[in-house]
Amino acid sequence: MHLIDTHTHLYVEAFDDDQDEAIARAMASGVDRFFLPAIDQTYTQRMLALQRKYPDRIDLMMGLHPTHVNENVEEELAHVAQMLDAHSFVAVGEIGIDLYWDKTHAQAQQKAFDQQIYWAKERGLPIVIHCREAFDEVFEVLEGHRGDDLKGIFHCFTGTLSHAHRAIDLNLFLGIGGVVTFKNGKIDQFLAEIPLTNIVLETDAPYLAPVPYRGKRNESAYLPLIAEKVAHLYGRSLAEVAEQTTANARKVFGDF
Ligand SMILES: [Zn+2]
Repeated sequence: MHLIDTHTHLYVEAFDDDQDEAIARAMASGVDRFFLPAIDQTYTQRMLALQRKYPDRIDLMMGLHPTHVNENVEEELAHVAQMLDAHSFVAVGEIGIDLYWDKTHAQAQQKAFDQQIYWAKERGLPIVIHCREAFDEVFEVLEGHRGDDLKGIFHCFTGTLSHAHRAIDLNLFLGIGGVVTFKNGKIDQFLAEIPLTNIVLETDAPYLAPVPYRGKRNESAYLPLIAEKVAHLYGRSLAEVAEQTTANARKVFGDF
């Protein structure tokens, strides 16, 4: 079985003590490719170093995470633009709007999201979207970019069935992670109504560990637990889910 973790932060402090072991455990569990979303410029060197170590396993994205949009947003965005020109990245992400933690920079988050989508389209890259308590705001920005050149993933999708249809209609795949295993996660109630051809799998490690590890540090090695839950919900075999979601990931990120 081959699984792709389309969203994992393997480079953050949570893995400082066992980064290589965590990657080895993931590979032993069938996860053989890792897509790393950016957060802000403080992590760029860590990401590049990790990819140099695992060039055949790890692909990087570049972008400014919405919860890291602060007073220095212009400097951060300049870094994103400079990195996009200097290195090869597979996507612009993670980008978006998060109104759960802090609404102070809501306007700046919206503007940064819009700007980064523009840069992605300019380079023919997909986007990876972070959206928390901001569906209306996120869709408003996305509608402004609707078209064949808009593509990507709605990461950690936690919306309603109608949000899901709207995202798919905008040429986006739904990133399904640990929340699908939660008792109160809600998306398990309608996920099977969404074609399997529209979803990709992710852990979002070190966050949002699936059951039975909920509340603990998440790892890419737990991706099979998410795939199993998805297989159960769709009434398909684990092998079928692995094959289809891998094909979907290739559609987003290109051949890898
Ligand atoms: Zn993330």
